[in-house]
Amino acid sequence: MRTIGNDNAINYLKNAYRQNSFAHFYIFYGPEHVGKTTLAYDFVKLLNCTSKENEFGCESCENCKKINLNNYYDLICVNSKTPIEGTSTNSSDQIRIGHIHQINHSANLGPFIGKYKIFLIENAHNLNNEASNAFLKLLEEPPKGSIFIFLVSDLSKLYPTILSRAQKIVLSELRNVQIEDWIKQKYDYDHETIEKIVQFSQGLLGKAFLVSENISLLEEYKESYNRFYEFCNSAMSNRLNISQKLSTRFRTDRNGIYQELNNWMNFCDLIIKKNFEKELNFIFDFDLKKTYSIMEINKIIIILLRSINNLQNNANSRLVFDVMSLDIPEKQNSVR
Ligand SMILES: [Zn+2]
Repeated sequence: MRTIGNDNAINYLKNAYRQNSFAHFYIFYGPEHVGKTTLAYDFVKLLNCTSKENEFGCESCENCKKINLNNYYDLICVNSKTPIEGTSTNSSDQIRIGHIHQINHSANLGPFIGKYKIFLIENAHNLNNEASNAFLKLLEEPPKGSIFIFLVSDLSKLYPTILSRAQKIVLSELRNVQIEDWIKQKYDYDHETIEKIVQFSQGLLGKAFLVSENISLLEEYKESYNRFYEFCNSAMSNRLNISQKLSTRFRTDRNGIYQELNNWMNFCDLIIKKNFEKELNFIFDFDLKKTYSIMEINKIIIILLRSINNLQNNANSRLVFDVMSLDIPEKQNSVR
């Protein structure tokens, strides 16, 4: 995978490379699946590729190969699931102080091979308070040759003091035609399938990659829509049944539920877009546009967002889904 579009971000990093002047601390910011990790890997290849055939790495030298396999000594990836030495495995979603201590220790050893050791902190918006403070302390005297990169999809969760110290690089969604060209270059799908992937991806190259590699995701996406449709068209009694099912599933499959609610928001987004871009073809028929007005669809997006937020803040899941059931407008001819 390579970064596509996002010329500002790429040119910025290339210039830094040409001038050999890097910040100690970067934040790569953009929605999930926009390509933050890919850009970070491109950056590491830029710094370490031994053949300069392509400015962002040749992809075939020893270093490029190792980096692509995440098997390069001077590239260290950390996320909330990274084991912390001396503590039992923890299923916490947070990046904790133990992680920062490990980073600190490793950074102080310096790079092994190259000039720089790069620390990629994935979903860095999950740093807890203690870890944030420890990281700020680390930044006060950054170990020589270390570059820290936070990959972040929610800036509002980071300390302002951390934000203000970072060089921020923003990544944005691609245009549909860019995604389409990318799929055509890499895969052999027919026109209709490509159109479906493009629509599913919503400008996010990471999503296009996921579904291109595993086309059955399109079918799951459709099933997700069917569940949303059923939910919206149900009377309260049935909604509360669905609420109970969602809540039960949430206990064992949090990410699955977040994905489901995100899909539901995407469907609403598409319905609103359709209102402005008449020629937009839907992957499948969005009957909901007959059920709700655009105003109501907007309201539903806000309700879904709030539900996700409340779940992330550990509200009681059954309560969250019950409130959601009550808040999403009920239609008069609902199935009872
Ligand atoms: Zn190379």
